[in-house]
Amino acid sequence: MRWVLLFLPWLLYALPSSDPRPGGVVIEPLPSNLTVTSVRFVNREGIVFFGEGRWWALAPIPLDVGMGTYTLRFYRRGKEVWRKLVKVRDYRYPQQHLRIKNRRKVIPNPADIRRIRKEAPRKRRAKAFHRDRNPDLNFIWPLKGHISSLFGLRRFFNGKPRAPHRGIDIAAKEGRPVRAVADGVVADAGNFFFSGNLLFLEHGKGVMTLYAHLSRYVVKPGERVKKGQIIGYVGHTGRATGPHLHFGVLIRGVYVDPMIFLPDKRAKKR
Ligand SMILES: [Zn+2]
Repeated sequence: MRWVLLFLPWLLYALPSSDPRPGGVVIEPLPSNLTVTSVRFVNREGIVFFGEGRWWALAPIPLDVGMGTYTLRFYRRGKEVWRKLVKVRDYRYPQQHLRIKNRRKVIPNPADIRRIRKEAPRKRRAKAFHRDRNPDLNFIWPLKGHISSLFGLRRFFNGKPRAPHRGIDIAAKEGRPVRAVADGVVADAGNFFFSGNLLFLEHGKGVMTLYAHLSRYVVKPGERVKKGQIIGYVGHTGRATGPHLHFGVLIRGVYVDPMIFLPDKRAKKR
C-alpha cells in the first residue's frame, strides 16, 4: 500500500514523450550538473521546464522542417553550455479535401482580406505572450467527442490548397461546454475571420492552447483559469463545416500536434 501511495503522483503525472517529426517536439532531460536557462532547436526558441523531479528541455519542431539531424543547443544566460544532435524523422501527413458552402471563407473578398490582414498582428501578439511560470503539461481533454480531423493534414478547401491543419478537430454538438486543459491565463479572446470566436490560453513559459469556432466564450483577456474550468461552448463560427472544437497547441509560437499532450494515447493511432 505504501509503495502504491509513494508512486501515485508519478502514475498520475505522465510527461509527454519526445516525438521528433515535423509538427512534433523534442523533450530531453537536462544534465544534472548544468544550469540551463534556455534552449534552441531548428532556429526556434524552446523552453526549460521542471517535471517528475528534474529539469527538461522542450523544443517545438515547425511543420515545414525537413527530415535530418539538427543540433539542440543549451544556453546559460545566452552562452552555449551544451549541445546534442537530434534526428528529425520523415513524416508525410495525409491530404484532406473539404467542401465549404460559404465561398468567402475559401476565396475572401477584398474587405475580408483587409480584415484578415488586420487580425494577423493581433494573433501574433497573442502567440508571443509568455509568463515565467512552470507549465502543467499533463493536459485533460477540452471536451469529449469524436476526433474528426488530425493535426498536420495538407488541406484543400473546395479544391484549393490552403495552410495545413494546425490543430485537431473534435466534433461535438453546438453548445457543449469546452474546458481549460490546464491552469492558465487568457492571452486573448476575440472573433476572427477564419477561427470564429477564438480563445488563447497561456499555461506558462509560452506553452499555449487555442480553442476556435466557439459559439461563445465566457472568460476575458487577462483572466486566470483553472484546469477543467468551462471557458466557452462548441460552435461553428468562422471557417467551419459544422459544429466542432478546433483545438491547437503552441510552444513559443510554434504549432505542434496536440495529441502529444493529451491523455489516452490509443487515440494517437492514425
Ligand atoms: Zn481544425
